[in-house]
Amino acid sequence: TENVLEISNLCVEYRTRDSVVKAVNGLDLTLKKGQALGVVGETGAGKTTTGLAVLGLIPNPPGVVTEGKIVLDGQDVLTKDARYLRGIRGKQVSMIFQDPMTSLNPVLPVNEQIAEVIRTHNKQLKPKEALEAAGDMLELVGIPRDRGGEYPHQFSGGMKQRVVIAIALACHPDVLIADEPTTALDVTIQAQVLEMMKELKKQYGTSMIMITHDLGIVADICDEVSVVYAGRVVEHGTLEDIFDHTLHPYTEGLFNSLPNMADRTQRLKPIKGLMPDPSNLPEGCAFCPRCNYAKDICARKKPGRLWSNDTHYVECHLYNEKNINSGEVLKGE
Ligand code: SF4
Repeated sequence: TENVLEISNLCVEYRTRDSVVKAVNGLDLTLKKGQALGVVGETGAGKTTTGLAVLGLIPNPPGVVTEGKIVLDGQDVLTKDARYLRGIRGKQVSMIFQDPMTSLNPVLPVNEQIAEVIRTHNKQLKPKEALEAAGDMLELVGIPRDRGGEYPHQFSGGMKQRVVIAIALACHPDVLIADEPTTALDVTIQAQVLEMMKELKKQYGTSMIMITHDLGIVADICDEVSVVYAGRVVEHGTLEDIFDHTLHPYTEGLFNSLPNMADRTQRLKPIKGLMPDPSNLPEGCAFCPRCNYAKDICARKKPGRLWSNDTHYVECHLYNEKNINSGEVLKGE
Protein backbone atom coordinates (compact mmCIF):
# COMPACT_ATOMS: atom_id res chain seq x y z
CA THR A 1 0.00 0.00 0.00
CA GLU A 2 1.06 3.54 -0.73
CA ASN A 3 2.12 5.77 2.18
CA VAL A 4 0.19 9.01 2.51
CA LEU A 5 2.26 10.33 5.39
CA GLU A 6 5.81 9.54 6.39
CA ILE A 7 7.43 11.14 9.39
CA SER A 8 11.09 10.37 9.86
CA ASN A 9 13.47 11.29 12.63
CA LEU A 10 11.27 14.15 13.82
CA CYS A 11 12.78 16.17 16.66
CA VAL A 12 10.89 19.01 18.34
CA GLU A 13 12.04 21.15 21.22
CA TYR A 14 10.31 23.79 23.32
CA ARG A 15 12.91 26.35 24.32
CA THR A 16 12.36 28.57 27.31
CA ARG A 17 14.80 30.83 29.11
CA ASP A 18 15.86 28.14 31.58
CA SER A 19 15.30 24.88 29.81
CA VAL A 20 15.05 22.95 26.59
CA VAL A 21 12.16 20.52 26.65
CA LYS A 22 12.68 17.73 24.15
CA ALA A 23 9.11 16.86 23.29
CA VAL A 24 9.82 14.67 20.25
CA ASN A 25 13.10 12.78 19.89
CA GLY A 26 13.66 11.12 16.55
CA LEU A 27 10.13 9.92 15.96
CA ASP A 28 9.17 7.84 12.92
CA LEU A 29 5.59 7.24 11.79
CA THR A 30 4.21 5.83 8.56
CA LEU A 31 0.55 6.07 7.62
CA LYS A 32 -0.64 3.89 4.77
CA LYS A 33 -3.44 4.93 2.46
CA GLY A 34 -6.89 4.07 3.76
CA GLN A 35 -5.56 2.76 7.05
CA ALA A 36 -5.81 3.91 10.64
CA LEU A 37 -2.61 4.17 12.65
CA GLY A 38 -2.89 4.24 16.43
CA VAL A 39 -0.33 6.43 18.16
CA VAL A 40 -0.42 5.28 21.75
CA GLY A 41 1.24 6.49 24.92
CA GLU A 42 0.75 8.47 28.08
CA THR A 43 0.09 12.19 28.22
CA GLY A 44 3.28 14.12 27.55
CA ALA A 45 4.80 11.53 25.19
CA GLY A 46 4.92 14.02 22.31
CA LYS A 47 1.89 12.67 20.46
CA THR A 48 0.02 15.97 20.16
CA THR A 49 3.19 17.87 19.25
CA THR A 50 3.69 15.43 16.40
CA GLY A 51 0.15 16.05 15.13
CA LEU A 52 0.67 19.80 15.28
CA ALA A 53 3.97 19.47 13.41
CA VAL A 54 2.21 17.78 10.49
CA LEU A 55 -0.12 20.77 10.20
CA GLY A 56 2.72 23.25 10.63
CA LEU A 57 1.04 24.48 13.81
CA ILE A 58 3.80 24.19 16.40
CA PRO A 59 3.83 27.54 18.19
CA ASN A 60 7.18 29.18 17.44
CA PRO A 61 8.49 30.42 19.79
CA PRO A 62 8.86 28.40 22.00
CA GLY A 63 8.58 25.37 19.69
CA VAL A 64 11.30 24.51 17.16
CA VAL A 65 11.51 21.55 14.81
CA THR A 66 15.22 20.80 14.94
CA GLU A 67 15.39 17.76 12.66
CA GLY A 68 13.41 15.40 10.52
CA LYS A 69 11.08 15.10 7.59
CA ILE A 70 7.29 15.07 7.34
CA VAL A 71 6.34 13.91 3.88
CA LEU A 72 2.66 14.37 3.14
CA ASP A 73 1.48 13.38 -0.33
CA GLY A 74 5.08 13.44 -1.54
CA GLN A 75 5.97 16.90 -0.17
CA ASP A 76 8.06 17.64 2.92
CA VAL A 77 5.86 20.06 4.85
CA LEU A 78 8.78 21.14 7.03
CA THR A 79 10.34 22.90 4.05
CA LYS A 80 7.15 24.78 3.17
CA ASP A 81 6.05 28.32 3.99
CA ALA A 82 2.98 29.47 5.92
CA ARG A 83 0.97 30.01 2.75
CA TYR A 84 1.50 26.45 1.53
CA LEU A 85 0.61 25.09 4.96
CA ARG A 86 -2.64 27.07 5.05
CA GLY A 87 -3.45 25.58 1.68
CA ILE A 88 -3.09 21.98 2.81
CA ARG A 89 -4.90 22.34 6.14
CA GLY A 90 -8.42 21.03 5.78
CA LYS A 91 -7.78 19.83 2.25
CA GLN A 92 -4.90 17.38 2.65
CA VAL A 93 -4.74 17.06 6.39
CA SER A 94 -7.17 17.90 9.21
CA MET A 95 -6.88 17.55 12.95
CA ILE A 96 -9.59 16.91 15.53
CA PHE A 97 -8.71 18.04 19.02
CA GLN A 98 -9.77 16.55 22.34
CA ASP A 99 -11.92 19.45 23.44
CA PRO A 100 -14.44 20.36 20.74
CA MET A 101 -14.74 23.92 22.01
CA THR A 102 -11.15 24.73 21.08
CA SER A 103 -12.08 24.37 17.43
CA LEU A 104 -15.65 25.75 17.43
CA ASN A 105 -16.61 29.39 17.21
CA PRO A 106 -19.27 30.00 19.89
CA VAL A 107 -20.89 32.92 18.06
CA LEU A 108 -21.37 31.36 14.63
CA PRO A 109 -24.05 28.82 13.67
CA VAL A 110 -22.46 25.44 13.03
CA ASN A 111 -23.48 25.21 9.37
CA GLU A 112 -21.75 28.52 8.67
CA GLN A 113 -18.59 27.25 10.34
CA ILE A 114 -18.56 24.20 8.11
CA ALA A 115 -19.43 26.30 5.03
CA GLU A 116 -16.53 28.64 5.81
CA VAL A 117 -14.05 25.77 5.65
CA ILE A 118 -15.58 24.46 2.45
CA ARG A 119 -15.31 27.86 0.77
CA THR A 120 -11.68 28.29 1.81
CA HIS A 121 -10.81 25.44 -0.50
CA ASN A 122 -13.56 25.90 -3.11
CA LYS A 123 -13.60 29.63 -3.72
CA GLN A 124 -15.90 29.35 -6.72
CA LEU A 125 -18.78 28.07 -4.55
CA LYS A 126 -21.58 30.51 -3.77
CA PRO A 127 -22.41 30.95 -0.04
CA LYS A 128 -25.71 29.16 -0.54
CA GLU A 129 -24.04 26.17 -2.21
CA ALA A 130 -21.48 25.98 0.58
CA LEU A 131 -24.31 25.94 3.16
CA GLU A 132 -25.95 23.13 1.20
CA ALA A 133 -22.68 21.17 1.31
CA ALA A 134 -22.39 21.93 5.03
CA GLY A 135 -25.83 20.38 5.51
CA ASP A 136 -24.60 17.25 3.74
CA MET A 137 -21.63 17.06 6.11
CA LEU A 138 -23.91 17.40 9.15
CA GLU A 139 -26.03 14.54 7.89
CA LEU A 140 -22.92 12.50 7.28
CA VAL A 141 -22.00 12.76 10.97
CA GLY A 142 -25.57 12.04 12.06
CA ILE A 143 -26.87 15.54 12.78
CA PRO A 144 -30.14 16.55 11.05
CA ARG A 145 -29.41 19.34 8.56
CA ASP A 146 -32.22 21.50 9.92
CA ARG A 147 -30.22 21.93 13.14
CA GLY A 148 -27.43 23.60 11.16
CA GLY A 149 -28.56 27.10 12.09
CA GLU A 150 -27.99 26.42 15.79
CA TYR A 151 -24.98 27.55 17.83
CA PRO A 152 -22.43 25.22 19.48
CA HIS A 153 -23.87 25.70 22.99
CA GLN A 154 -27.18 24.26 21.80
CA PHE A 155 -25.52 20.89 21.19
CA SER A 156 -24.45 18.21 23.67
CA GLY A 157 -20.77 17.28 24.07
CA GLY A 158 -21.02 14.34 21.71
CA MET A 159 -22.90 16.37 19.10
CA LYS A 160 -20.31 19.16 19.33
CA GLN A 161 -17.55 16.64 18.65
CA ARG A 162 -19.55 15.42 15.65
CA VAL A 163 -19.67 19.00 14.36
CA VAL A 164 -15.89 19.23 14.80
CA ILE A 165 -15.50 16.02 12.83
CA ALA A 166 -17.80 17.41 10.14
CA ILE A 167 -15.57 20.49 9.89
CA ALA A 168 -12.46 18.34 9.76
CA LEU A 169 -13.93 16.21 6.99
CA ALA A 170 -15.60 19.04 5.09
CA CYS A 171 -12.98 19.09 2.33
CA HIS A 172 -12.41 15.33 2.34
CA PRO A 173 -8.82 15.47 3.62
CA ASP A 174 -6.47 12.65 2.68
CA VAL A 175 -5.30 12.41 6.27
CA LEU A 176 -7.31 12.93 9.43
CA ILE A 177 -5.41 13.28 12.70
CA ALA A 178 -7.67 12.67 15.69
CA ASP A 179 -6.11 13.69 19.01
CA GLU A 180 -7.94 11.87 21.82
CA PRO A 181 -11.19 12.64 19.99
CA THR A 182 -13.44 10.94 22.53
CA THR A 183 -11.64 11.51 25.82
CA ALA A 184 -13.87 14.41 26.84
CA LEU A 185 -17.03 12.43 26.11
CA ASP A 186 -18.97 9.98 28.24
CA VAL A 187 -18.69 6.31 27.47
CA THR A 188 -21.82 5.76 25.38
CA ILE A 189 -21.19 8.86 23.27
CA GLN A 190 -17.55 7.78 22.90
CA ALA A 191 -18.71 4.53 21.37
CA GLN A 192 -21.03 6.36 18.96
CA VAL A 193 -18.34 8.78 17.78
CA LEU A 194 -15.88 5.91 17.27
CA GLU A 195 -18.45 3.92 15.37
CA MET A 196 -19.01 6.91 13.13
CA MET A 197 -15.28 7.36 12.50
CA LYS A 198 -14.99 3.70 11.58
CA GLU A 199 -17.83 4.13 9.14
CA LEU A 200 -16.16 7.19 7.57
CA LYS A 201 -12.93 5.30 7.16
CA LYS A 202 -14.78 2.51 5.41
CA GLN A 203 -16.93 4.75 3.20
CA TYR A 204 -14.42 7.41 2.21
CA GLY A 205 -11.12 5.60 2.62
CA THR A 206 -9.85 8.44 4.83
CA SER A 207 -6.43 7.62 6.26
CA MET A 208 -6.40 8.33 9.98
CA ILE A 209 -4.01 8.81 12.82
CA MET A 210 -5.70 8.07 16.15
CA ILE A 211 -3.73 9.64 18.97
CA THR A 212 -4.84 7.98 22.18
CA HIS A 213 -3.76 6.50 25.49
CA ASP A 214 -6.47 3.87 25.18
CA LEU A 215 -5.50 0.52 23.66
CA GLY A 216 -9.18 -0.43 23.61
CA ILE A 217 -9.84 2.29 21.02
CA VAL A 218 -6.84 1.10 19.05
CA ALA A 219 -8.12 -2.47 18.99
CA ASP A 220 -11.46 -1.21 17.75
CA ILE A 221 -10.42 1.03 14.87
CA CYS A 222 -6.71 0.79 13.98
CA ASP A 223 -4.74 -1.36 11.54
CA GLU A 224 -1.29 -0.58 12.90
CA VAL A 225 0.04 0.78 16.18
CA SER A 226 3.02 2.92 17.12
CA VAL A 227 3.74 2.97 20.84
CA VAL A 228 5.36 6.27 21.80
CA TYR A 229 7.44 6.91 24.89
CA ALA A 230 9.31 10.14 25.65
CA GLY A 231 8.98 11.31 22.06
CA ARG A 232 10.09 8.12 20.29
CA VAL A 233 8.39 5.07 18.88
CA VAL A 234 9.55 2.23 21.13
CA GLU A 235 7.46 -0.46 19.43
CA HIS A 236 5.55 -0.58 16.18
CA GLY A 237 3.51 -3.26 14.49
CA THR A 238 0.18 -4.45 13.22
CA LEU A 239 -2.64 -4.96 15.73
CA GLU A 240 -1.73 -8.62 15.89
CA ASP A 241 1.99 -7.90 16.44
CA ILE A 242 1.28 -5.54 19.29
CA PHE A 243 -1.61 -7.35 20.97
CA ASP A 244 -0.49 -10.96 20.56
CA HIS A 245 3.29 -10.63 20.48
CA THR A 246 3.99 -7.68 22.76
CA LEU A 247 7.72 -7.00 22.91
CA HIS A 248 8.37 -3.76 24.76
CA PRO A 249 8.03 -3.59 28.57
CA TYR A 250 6.27 -0.23 28.19
CA THR A 251 3.65 -1.70 25.84
CA GLU A 252 3.14 -4.50 28.33
CA GLY A 253 2.68 -1.87 31.03
CA LEU A 254 0.01 -0.13 28.96
CA PHE A 255 -1.86 -3.43 28.62
CA ASN A 256 -1.60 -4.14 32.33
CA SER A 257 -3.04 -0.74 33.19
CA LEU A 258 -6.11 -1.29 30.98
CA PRO A 259 -9.21 -1.89 33.08
CA ASN A 260 -11.42 -3.37 30.39
CA MET A 261 -9.54 -6.11 28.62
CA ALA A 262 -11.15 -9.22 30.01
CA ASP A 263 -8.26 -11.62 29.61
CA ARG A 264 -5.76 -9.38 31.31
CA THR A 265 -7.74 -8.31 34.37
CA GLN A 266 -5.80 -10.40 36.85
CA ARG A 267 -2.68 -8.32 36.24
CA LEU A 268 -4.30 -4.92 36.30
CA LYS A 269 -2.07 -2.18 37.62
CA PRO A 270 -0.85 1.22 36.48
CA ILE A 271 2.74 1.62 35.32
CA LYS A 272 4.78 2.73 38.30
CA GLY A 273 6.60 6.04 38.24
CA LEU A 274 6.34 8.97 35.87
CA MET A 275 7.59 9.83 32.41
CA PRO A 276 11.09 11.25 32.50
CA ASP A 277 11.51 15.01 32.63
CA PRO A 278 11.74 15.95 28.93
CA SER A 279 14.23 18.70 29.73
CA ASN A 280 16.48 16.10 31.34
CA LEU A 281 16.13 12.79 29.53
CA PRO A 282 18.10 9.75 30.74
CA GLU A 283 21.23 8.90 28.78
CA GLY A 284 20.20 5.34 27.97
CA CYS A 285 16.69 3.96 27.49
CA ALA A 286 14.13 6.60 28.50
CA PHE A 287 11.92 3.95 30.11
CA CYS A 288 14.74 2.66 32.32
CA PRO A 289 13.67 4.30 35.61
CA ARG A 290 10.25 2.61 35.37
CA CYS A 291 11.19 -0.69 33.80
CA ASN A 292 10.88 -4.01 35.67
CA TYR A 293 13.35 -5.63 33.31
CA ALA A 294 16.09 -2.99 33.27
CA LYS A 295 19.66 -4.28 32.98
CA ASP A 296 22.96 -2.43 33.52
CA ILE A 297 23.32 -1.48 29.88
CA CYS A 298 19.83 0.15 29.81
CA ALA A 299 20.92 3.18 31.85
CA ARG A 300 24.01 3.74 29.69
CA LYS A 301 23.06 3.04 26.10
CA LYS A 302 20.04 3.82 23.99
CA PRO A 303 18.60 0.63 22.52
CA GLY A 304 18.68 0.33 18.73
CA ARG A 305 15.84 -0.83 16.53
CA LEU A 306 15.30 -4.52 15.97
CA TRP A 307 12.73 -6.01 13.58
CA SER A 308 10.99 -9.21 14.57
CA ASN A 309 9.20 -9.53 11.21
CA ASP A 310 8.41 -7.29 8.23
CA THR A 311 5.91 -5.23 10.20
CA HIS A 312 7.06 -5.32 13.82
CA TYR A 313 9.97 -3.59 15.50
CA VAL A 314 11.07 -2.78 19.03
CA GLU A 315 13.73 -0.64 20.68
CA CYS A 316 14.77 -2.49 23.81
CA HIS A 317 17.95 -4.14 25.11
CA LEU A 318 16.03 -7.30 26.10
CA TYR A 319 16.12 -8.39 22.49
CA ASN A 320 18.71 -9.67 20.07
CA GLU A 321 18.56 -11.54 16.78
CA LYS A 322 18.30 -14.85 18.62
CA ASN A 323 15.53 -14.25 21.14
CA ILE A 324 13.34 -11.75 19.30
CA ASN A 325 11.04 -14.46 18.02
CA SER A 326 11.22 -16.85 20.93
CA GLY A 327 8.20 -15.24 22.60
CA GLU A 328 9.49 -15.87 26.11
CA VAL A 329 11.18 -12.65 27.04
CA LEU A 330 8.41 -10.73 28.84
CA LYS A 331 7.16 -12.56 31.88
CA GLY A 332 4.25 -10.27 32.64
CA GLU A 333 5.38 -9.46 36.18
FE1 SF4 B 1 13.54 -1.84 29.98
FE2 SF4 B 1 16.07 -1.88 29.21
FE3 SF4 B 1 14.16 -2.45 27.49
FE4 SF4 B 1 14.50 0.03 28.33
S1 SF4 B 1 15.93 -1.14 27.13
S2 SF4 B 1 12.59 -1.05 28.13
S3 SF4 B 1 15.08 -0.30 30.45
S4 SF4 B 1 14.69 -3.60 29.33
